[in-house]
Amino acid sequence: MSILLSCQKVFSSFIDIIYPPRCHICQSFLADDYNNNGTRPICQDCLNNFSGIESPFCPVCGTPFESMEEEDHLCEACLRKRPFYDIIAAPYLYEGGIMEAIHLLKYAGKTHLVESLGPLLASFALEKLDMTDGCLIMPVPLHPKRLRERGFNQSLLLARVLATLLDVELDFLSLRRIRYTQPQTGLKTDERRKNVSRAFELTEKIKWKGKTVILVDDVATTGNTLNECARVLKRAGCAKVFCLVLARASGF
Ligand SMILES: [Zn+2]
Ligand SMILES: [Zn+2]
Repeated sequence: MSILLSCQKVFSSFIDIIYPPRCHICQSFLADDYNNNGTRPICQDCLNNFSGIESPFCPVCGTPFESMEEEDHLCEACLRKRPFYDIIAAPYLYEGGIMEAIHLLKYAGKTHLVESLGPLLASFALEKLDMTDGCLIMPVPLHPKRLRERGFNQSLLLARVLATLLDVELDFLSLRRIRYTQPQTGLKTDERRKNVSRAFELTEKIKWKGKTVILVDDVATTGNTLNECARVLKRAGCAKVFCLVLARASGF
């Protein structure tokens, strides 16, 4: 071990004595044996409080089904009209602990939470997504006005962690949000679709032929925003658009 690494280790142990590591969500002190590699400071109780999505679910939009007897199958909405994206993959249902964590990240500015949530999403992506050579990670962009209001784009923060951990190229400039839209929550189904219609554009239209894009967002509540981004990407020639979100609502 180099002298620099040993010094860093001593320094971080010293910091741990002065400021014992706490769970990023509930603030409880973490047990001595927690995974102290700086990537997962979430306590086991909080992790247990994240509701995982289990089969059966729709293999396209990811909607979980209530009956545990069935196998995975297309939901009625996807059967009627296939979305532009290929899949929405999410490790968790948008409820309980993960919802609380996403709220802290987005609305209370606790951006350090991406250091814990990003690696959870990265290991899920490795399991679920077929990442071919030359695929790109793109965050769902915020409108410049919303970006000024919030100060950061949580999807870009997550996408950045994913790109590093998965060693995939990050592109956060090509896809832009050109319409300032209302939040999707509280709108009716039809209004939600109209709300995000033509809200995105690609700055460069030539380099997309045959590409696979991993589109990253924190949460999918209706799927319309992801679908609208996917529409633009597919029209530009992308072969596949995989949407990767931390959590999704139980039904669209
Ligand atoms: Zn906790
Ligand atoms: Zn579906």
